[in-house]
Amino acid sequence: MSQIPHLIHGERIPGSGRHADVYNPSTGQAIHQVALADCATVQQAIDSAKSAFPAWRNTPPAKRAQVMFRFKQLLEQNEAQIVRLISEEHGKTLEDAAGELKRGIENVEYACGVPELLKGEYNRNVGPNIDAWSDFQPLGIVAGITPFNFPAMVPLWMYPLAIACGNCFILKPSERDPSSTLLIAELLHQAGLPTGVLNVVHGDKEAVDALIEAPEVKALSFVGSTPIAEYIYAEGAKRGKRVQALGGAKNHAVLMPDADLDNAVSALMGAAYGSCGERCMAISVAVCVGDQIADALVDKIVPQIQALKVGAGTCNGLDMGPLVTAAARDKVVGYIDDGVAAGAKLVVDGRGYRVAGHEDGYFVGGTLFDRVTPDMRIYQEEIFGPVLCIVRVDSLEQAMQLINDHEYGNGTCLFTRDGEAARLFCDEIEVGMVGINVPLPVPVAYHSFGGWKRSLFGDLHAYGPDGVRFYTRRKAITQRWPQRASHEAAQFAFPSNG
Ligand code: NAD
Repeated sequence: MSQIPHLIHGERIPGSGRHADVYNPSTGQAIHQVALADCATVQQAIDSAKSAFPAWRNTPPAKRAQVMFRFKQLLEQNEAQIVRLISEEHGKTLEDAAGELKRGIENVEYACGVPELLKGEYNRNVGPNIDAWSDFQPLGIVAGITPFNFPAMVPLWMYPLAIACGNCFILKPSERDPSSTLLIAELLHQAGLPTGVLNVVHGDKEAVDALIEAPEVKALSFVGSTPIAEYIYAEGAKRGKRVQALGGAKNHAVLMPDADLDNAVSALMGAAYGSCGERCMAISVAVCVGDQIADALVDKIVPQIQALKVGAGTCNGLDMGPLVTAAARDKVVGYIDDGVAAGAKLVVDGRGYRVAGHEDGYFVGGTLFDRVTPDMRIYQEEIFGPVLCIVRVDSLEQAMQLINDHEYGNGTCLFTRDGEAARLFCDEIEVGMVGINVPLPVPVAYHSFGGWKRSLFGDLHAYGPDGVRFYTRRKAITQRWPQRASHEAAQFAFPSNG
């Protein structure tokens, strides 16, 4: 088994202590070992970043952008290898991995515009001979901690923009599928990034805690499950750090009686079962307004779920691969058991799914529950698997109440042809990202991504304009150049233009 090293000061550094196995979820075989950093290794990365920061901070933004332009080209040139690595360790299909990479590259493209993004705000003559402006300066060393489900895209939400803004970055990727993440970081070095500006340390809680505790680390970007997001937000904020911590989700799609059902079913298939449901924006609840649309949905979607092409992620032409680990598969199966015990109607059962030739892979087939009620765990909790729950309600108001009462508020979607319903939904739904006839309303790179309620802790959303604000701090400068001959007497009243 090959060892996956850290990337510190531009060098591959083998781990000296603990390691974890990395599996191919399609076969159930351990294929690599990844180093798990201890505090000393994290400190090495911090020291490297510290040495790089003064020069990088003063590198003109246009030159920093040029590195990002070359990085984008290298990402495109190496797409096939990156996509294969994602698929091999995560299990998602090759096409899905390619989509994730493309959405990641969009964030690099956004970072290429950093000279424009960092333009300050300027006013001449805010008082007599006084000019004022705001400058957006880098924070210093910032760290990112990322989840397994987007090993390429989520790190690319963070460090291209942070680095383009003049920061040095330490990335702690998921230990479950770190190979594509490492390759991408190496490509950024090939693009001409000075050593120390980006360091990658693999690890688990020990490495994360070392980053939280290090006084040199000024900000933490986290994406992962809600309990860990809450922990990192609380511990980081306690130490005076800037933190944005994106957590878990339970995303509802509401189907109105006037929805274009064929298109809504296609959209739901992709949004519920794509990536085996392992997306924070996956639709896991279909809220049907009226029994008629619910019955029609079941009739149309069941044959499509039964026809899902499930197999080893690295094969072409599939709809769905396996779950990421045996533990993830067992957890999903546990939720299906729980839904049955709670009295939900199991319409399609994905338990015990076998893929010929991949009998040890972590597969669960597409699963559908009908007549799910809000008191059930399968409704309340994030399953993170290929399980769609149908909840039946009588009105749009009831559907919206259900969503607004849920503890998560990441994404949601309404299928309708009624503009009035759509406008009400957009106005009053307590969710951070809303789609109208768009099942996965993941904002493009020049907007910003983030949920509400227990789906995000912190003030600013990820990437886009909020990302620029998160990775910079405002300095407001007020400057006076009085005329040489003039003398001004001391003023004791608070200065104003009054
Ligand atoms: P996770 O919370 O288990 O892990 C995320 C990161 O935290 C990893 O790097 C992991 O090593 C680290 N970590 C794990 N346990 C830790 C601990 N005790 N202390 C400190 N760090 C720890 O999440 P995951 O299983 O990798 O990813 C799936 C979750 O991420 C889902 O809940 C999903 O909804 C969420 N997610 C959210 C978004 C979003 O934008 N809101 C995007 C992607 C994934």
